[in-house]
Amino acid sequence: MAEKRDYYEVLGVSKDANEDELKKSFRSLARKFHPDKNPDDSEAEHLFKEVQEAYAVLSNPEQRRQYDMFGHDSPGGSPFGPGGFQGVNINLDDLFGGGIESIFSGIFGGGRSSRGRRGQDVLLRHSISLENVYDEAEIEISAKLSSACESCNGSGAQTPGDIQRCSTCDGQGRIMQQARVGPFVQQMVSDCPDCAGSGNIIRKRCSACRGSGSVKREQKLRITIPRGAEDGLRLRHRGKGEPIANGQHGDLYIHLDIEYHPWFERDGPDLIMALPLGFPEMMLGTQVELPHIDGKPLVIDVPAGAKPSETLLVRGRGMPHRRGRGRGDVTILLKLHVPEKFNKSMRSTLEEMRPSFGLPISDIEDAVRREAQDRRN
Ligand SMILES: [Zn+2]
Ligand SMILES: [Zn+2]
Repeated sequence: MAEKRDYYEVLGVSKDANEDELKKSFRSLARKFHPDKNPDDSEAEHLFKEVQEAYAVLSNPEQRRQYDMFGHDSPGGSPFGPGGFQGVNINLDDLFGGGIESIFSGIFGGGRSSRGRRGQDVLLRHSISLENVYDEAEIEISAKLSSACESCNGSGAQTPGDIQRCSTCDGQGRIMQQARVGPFVQQMVSDCPDCAGSGNIIRKRCSACRGSGSVKREQKLRITIPRGAEDGLRLRHRGKGEPIANGQHGDLYIHLDIEYHPWFERDGPDLIMALPLGFPEMMLGTQVELPHIDGKPLVIDVPAGAKPSETLLVRGRGMPHRRGRGRGDVTILLKLHVPEKFNKSMRSTLEEMRPSFGLPISDIEDAVRREAQDRRN
């Protein structure tokens, strides 16, 4: 196995780097090596874990002190337990927003239990229109969500007298276990198996919630859609997930599904659409106006002599950039509209046009040659 790199070196900071410097460097490196940005790249995956591990240790004052004294050979063994560091799932969005502290604060000392009990996270899908994403829209959604049962205050017991302190863990919900790691003995904390970590044994269950401590209720939520949100973005509402007796609520995630627009396709901040035009409009040029996502009409100037499959660009009228200022562009692909049926008079008009606009069959070889040359250029 390769020699483990120095944590300061991994983060590219000096030994006396302060918290902000650590965080800044961690954010930019974690973004660079994030698996979402480097799919199927095992080198990036390794670096991502390395950066996470270095930050997890150096951002914890106690662990940093240990590391400064002993390097990787801390007498307490690896701070991550016998399995070593496993990596953490970090959302790309968490790297931009807040959130990373809470991810790393829970890493030491046996994982979940050290953070206390948390209810389950809940995922809700919600569809919104492209217009809603254009501006920072505030919308209201209603959903059946769990909240603490009112009859038992979330305890799950019929009466307060039915709650008994668990004797196995003495009401702590956690038990200490000792594990041997090489020559060292490590203390491990885990949920008490008898009370499932709640610290209590329920003698008679609450009839309203059948002892679960929570009930599902239709609830209204106001959510703010971030400007320029992309399809699949997840918004986190802390503490709005499943409740749990004697613990913190889980989080609620709202997964945004962006509905199809009647004519636009989206490519990040840019919008793409096809514009069918009749032969005369293409030849003579025209101006087209369409309702647009920003409320002002989108005016498309088609120049005379435009050709099918050419594109026109309207700058700065696309979606807002997710970060920073400004907007993307609108790309318009021109299509030739050919009527499906011709009546007699249309046919004769076309016949009349043939000598002036048609391409004589005698010139076809030159035309084919030119076309090929254009494509090569
Ligand atoms: Zn217990
Ligand atoms: Zn109840």
